[in-house]
Amino acid sequence: MLGATGSIGASALDVIARHPERFTASVLSANARVEDLIALCRRHRPAHAVIVQPERYADLRDGLAAAGLPTRAHAGPEALAALAAGPDCDTVIAAIVGAAGMASTLAAARAGKRLLLANKESVVLAGDLLMSAVREHAAELIPIDSEHNAIFQCLHGQAADLGRVRRLILTASGGPFLNRGRAELAHATAAQACNHPNWKMGRKISVDSATLMNKGLEVIEAHWLFGMPAERIDVLVHPQSIVHSMVEHADGSVLAQMGRPDMRTTLACGLAWPERVDSGVAAPDLGAIGALSFQPPDRATFACLDLAYAALAAGGTAGATLNAANEVAVAAFLEGRIGFLDIPAVIADTLDAADHQPAGDLDVLLAADAAARAHAAARLSRQAGAMA
Ligand code: NAD
Ligand code: MG
Repeated sequence: MLGATGSIGASALDVIARHPERFTASVLSANARVEDLIALCRRHRPAHAVIVQPERYADLRDGLAAAGLPTRAHAGPEALAALAAGPDCDTVIAAIVGAAGMASTLAAARAGKRLLLANKESVVLAGDLLMSAVREHAAELIPIDSEHNAIFQCLHGQAADLGRVRRLILTASGGPFLNRGRAELAHATAAQACNHPNWKMGRKISVDSATLMNKGLEVIEAHWLFGMPAERIDVLVHPQSIVHSMVEHADGSVLAQMGRPDMRTTLACGLAWPERVDSGVAAPDLGAIGALSFQPPDRATFACLDLAYAALAAGGTAGATLNAANEVAVAAFLEGRIGFLDIPAVIADTLDAADHQPAGDLDVLLAADAAARAHAAARLSRQAGAMA
């Protein structure tokens, strides 16, 4: 469980704990929150726990010992990748936020694990490389992002046959700022952006949902996961978040997957697939919900969606650039250093300045990621200077 202390981590551990005869959480990881990680170790008794920040290692080791737990303590990103690839697990839940999840996600794919993939940023950064690793090492990738999990289910876990499948339709809730105009969004705060109407998620993905960058990242993710060309991936706003996505077939038949907006459903699907187990989530009460509605996204106001399509069209390292600029901009917005509408501006500027390369190997992608972070950060500090 990569990212055990996060929102996806909590949902995954909830499902795992419902089926002790079937699932055991053998490795838990967190970035820096040692106390939270030790609390999870008390409850789930994994064989290994990893704290990624090395300076927190002694706290983890001593805390586990003080709690009388047999769990072995580890620290650092190398330990994380080694455990993800090692013999202590057959399934890896990749739920670290951001490009920081890339190395461990890739390590799990290269070790041929069943990979429950929530960490969409690693697909946006290195989709081609990750999918090649999955194929070469016969890993079993099951998407956990609810839209992609819906498509996976509509395709019955098979690859998308481009002759039979005409389009993928990703649904978007529209986030907390649905139907708002630019004038209102100029003063949107981090607290407002993180107050999602349907989903309880980490802060970074909550801001991505508010800007529609989340949907943009998901378009790129769908392209890589299902081998679908960009012009055959559409986005439809569906404020109720009950239809999680749809697959349109050559004969005009559209299959949709429905469920409550609760990630335990997709995690249970991934953990048990092709079987089905209780996730603790009831089915949606369609009679009580009454109506499901759909509308096109407002692409002019929420410019991040088209920036993602542009990065996908540019190809190569452009996805890495888009993702890195977005991570820097969202972190600055969460810290109150820039406004909500500055997020797409920073990303557009970084994409314009970048020299997109073919995504040959990991080094090229990581260089594009680093260059984009440096460019976006420099732009932010110029902006701060201008504001002061
Ligand atoms: P979160 O912020 O709640 O949790 C993030 C986890 O990653 C934490 O356990 C944290 O310790 C760990 N982490 C953070 N930085 C790290 C680093 N540098 N190195 C190692 N570990 C680090 O995030 P979340 O909402 O659980 O989202 C996790 C991932 O799943 C994201 O990629 C997100 O886009 C994706 N996702 C989340 C949801 C959701 O409902 N929350 C839905 C779909 C996809
Ligand atoms: Mg999603």
